[in-house]
Amino acid sequence: MNSDELILKNEPKRNFIHEIIDRDKEAGASAVVTRFPPEPNGYLHIGHAKSICLNFGLAKEYSGRCHLRFDDTNPSKENTKYIESIKEDIKWLGFDWSEHLYFASNYFDKLYEWAKALIRAGKAYVCDLPPEEVSKTRGTLTEPGTESPYRNRSIDENLDLFERMKSGEFPDGSKTLRAKIDMKSSFMVLRDPVMYRILRVTHHRTGDKWCIYPTYDWTHGQSDWNEGITHSICTLEFENNRALYDWFLRTLESLGVETGSKRLPKQIEFARLNLTHTVMSKRWLLELVERGVVDGWDDPRMPTLAGLRRRGFTPESIRDFCERIGVAKTNSIVELALLEHCARQDLNRRAERRMAVLKPLKITLTNYPEDKIDKFEVKNNPDDESAGTRNLIFSREIFIEEDDFRENPPKHFFRLMPGGEVRLKDAYIIKCNEAVKDSSGKIVELLCTVDPDSRGGQSASGKKVKSTLHWVSAKYSESAEARLYNPLFLTPNPYDFPKGQDLLFNLNSDSMEILKDCRIEKELASAKPGESYQFMRLGYFCVDSRNCVPGHLVFNQTVTLKDDLARVEKKK
Ligand code: ATP
Ligand code: MG
Repeated sequence: MNSDELILKNEPKRNFIHEIIDRDKEAGASAVVTRFPPEPNGYLHIGHAKSICLNFGLAKEYSGRCHLRFDDTNPSKENTKYIESIKEDIKWLGFDWSEHLYFASNYFDKLYEWAKALIRAGKAYVCDLPPEEVSKTRGTLTEPGTESPYRNRSIDENLDLFERMKSGEFPDGSKTLRAKIDMKSSFMVLRDPVMYRILRVTHHRTGDKWCIYPTYDWTHGQSDWNEGITHSICTLEFENNRALYDWFLRTLESLGVETGSKRLPKQIEFARLNLTHTVMSKRWLLELVERGVVDGWDDPRMPTLAGLRRRGFTPESIRDFCERIGVAKTNSIVELALLEHCARQDLNRRAERRMAVLKPLKITLTNYPEDKIDKFEVKNNPDDESAGTRNLIFSREIFIEEDDFRENPPKHFFRLMPGGEVRLKDAYIIKCNEAVKDSSGKIVELLCTVDPDSRGGQSASGKKVKSTLHWVSAKYSESAEARLYNPLFLTPNPYDFPKGQDLLFNLNSDSMEILKDCRIEKELASAKPGESYQFMRLGYFCVDSRNCVPGHLVFNQTVTLKDDLARVEKKK
């Protein structure tokens, strides 16, 4: 067993979060309850997969449970189509929240009551400063903020104004409810953060019931508490927010409000996943979709789970990737090559081998009779006997890859050339006698002869040839389309663009190559959308789930057979 297989088969790697949970359990904590809390404002990406594997994985290891909760506090950016895609992607990845599906909007009533409890305790106030003014008076890391002139309104006035905010008396953006904490705090987040804003937008679940919406910060920790989440695992950029979340929770606890749980959730931060040549911010992914750079959220070049799935990545390969990158406290950038490596490892075990020619060059075998065929029984997967065998059909006219022939070969070119011999995989050794050209001088056909003593590809006389090429019979093949992909961004760090430019500066204009006249062996013509195959010598290919029509298959190249991402760097 090699080291890669070891990783695939081993128990999950331990990380610092295991240590924390173990200590909590020793101290008598109850069952572990985690959650994955997406905002329904985009599709899930490979970074989310890290968080999903971590949260659902921990729940499974500790025999606890993991909730799926949509943090839907921003109706202007949210959409039910995102909710459906997120559910589909989590299931596809192999995880199940069973009956534990929640929405932060389920707690809008409760949050409203709790906000009033804070007002009654003198810990929140209605502020009339416009949003720009609120941020201007917040101060900086080195200077304290200034108190709002509305900060010391009476409790009764605050209760009355807040009620009227809710009942729609004031225009959008004209008032906010703010927590009354400390404008001088060294934690910027504690400088009287906004808890509610007025926003007349229909919510996908609560409709037009509300014209005030709680902020994410006011909602997130309370939602966790209400659901009895024991460990609120989030990415490092929320480290500072922890002070605020704790303030809200402890203050509410001291006021004795009713929640679903006695125990406050414990926030633990880990480093988010960054991948070379990849952007993961949903804002930018949305831009790529809206500016038409890609063909939707599930474009096979997108780092979304929907895109990766369409490209041919398996859930197993993505889970393996998440396991290998581990969970740590410091931010880092993972090589895209590792994700591709995980796909190769998994597809190598499960994908059946087939032959396809992407850029066909016709060969006529002049000594092979027109009405003759040979059938060669070949293994579908040399690494997996259970995959069985199939028949390859050989005939007088075949196709090989254009690139596998050179009229004037450079040194160390061992494939086909005038007067040269190669093996056609599992079939015959052939010799090239002539290259036929059209009037423009382009080679359109090769005239070759088969060595009749090499049936099955092995020479009876022990003759050696240096190359083995893939091929398909002209008559017993079908036409198909293949799409080859390169990363969307040329630079390892796409965010590294000059001042005044934006992300598109680093865009790779060559991220997709469409080959419309490929030939695939007959056996492949019945392949179904979503199925993956290894095209010999070319890589792993998955039947596209969108663009196939009867009689015309489209294949997406998932990965090449060997790591060649360096090709991207060279193109720069
Ligand atoms: P983005 O920055 O892409 O817009 P987000 O953090 O706003 O993402 P959410 O929907 O809030 O997206 O994410 C849900 C969960 O996924 C959060 O707990 C978040 O911490 C986690 N998550 C998001 N991106 C990553 C990442 N790159 N690596 C690990 N976890 C991530
Ligand atoms: Mg977020």
